[in-house]
Amino acid sequence: MTPPLAIGGLARCSSCDWPGRLVATVFLQGCPWDCLYCHNPDLIDPRRPGAIGWEDVLAFLATRQGLLDGVVFSGGEATRQDLTEAIGQVRALGLGVGLHTMGAYPGRLGQLLPLVDWVGFDVKGPPGVVERIVGRRGVQPKVEQSLALLLASGVDYQVRTTWGPGVLSRAEAEAALAWARAQGAANPVLQPVRLEGTREEFRAAHQATASASRTPSGT
Ligand code: SF4
Repeated sequence: MTPPLAIGGLARCSSCDWPGRLVATVFLQGCPWDCLYCHNPDLIDPRRPGAIGWEDVLAFLATRQGLLDGVVFSGGEATRQDLTEAIGQVRALGLGVGLHTMGAYPGRLGQLLPLVDWVGFDVKGPPGVVERIVGRRGVQPKVEQSLALLLASGVDYQVRTTWGPGVLSRAEAEAALAWARAQGAANPVLQPVRLEGTREEFRAAHQATASASRTPSGT
């Protein structure tokens, strides 16, 4: 039997978590990374208990049949937990299934790909830089493996990279997109970093970097 999902939060209606779809977004608790700009740092600790039960989420979704297009499983890192049964229950309600991931668990992603309609895949940076962003060593091979699985699966996707002061320079962000294209990703996009929900130390670093880039040299 699948262990209960630890769910940190639920966005009941979102038009931006799956481009072109109106969805509910389920934020799974727990993430193996610690990104500089994480805007859900409370979701990182895998030992933290969930804030809402999956049965309550399902009951809510049952009231939104015909009103929502689907459900996005996000995080945290959604693939850290076994989503197989939950995805089947969402499908039984007639809703589509989207997934956000950054590729830390290629084995689990491979099992989920046949079950989902769309994946938002975060490329955190180009090789050699990504570890600075996510605060963990040795992540690149898993990211590469996960992206390859996604691209081979035929599942619709968006590959995106977050950039901005205190995260990636424009050149680093462009290098991340170039890397994704070289892997075979179509139309990877840049998204500006959002400060909402980020830690105070990141916001300070962001402001300092942004100010420095506006200061004319030689003054
Ligand atoms: S992968 Fe996502 S949830 Fe995990 S630390 Fe990075 S931004 Fe936060």
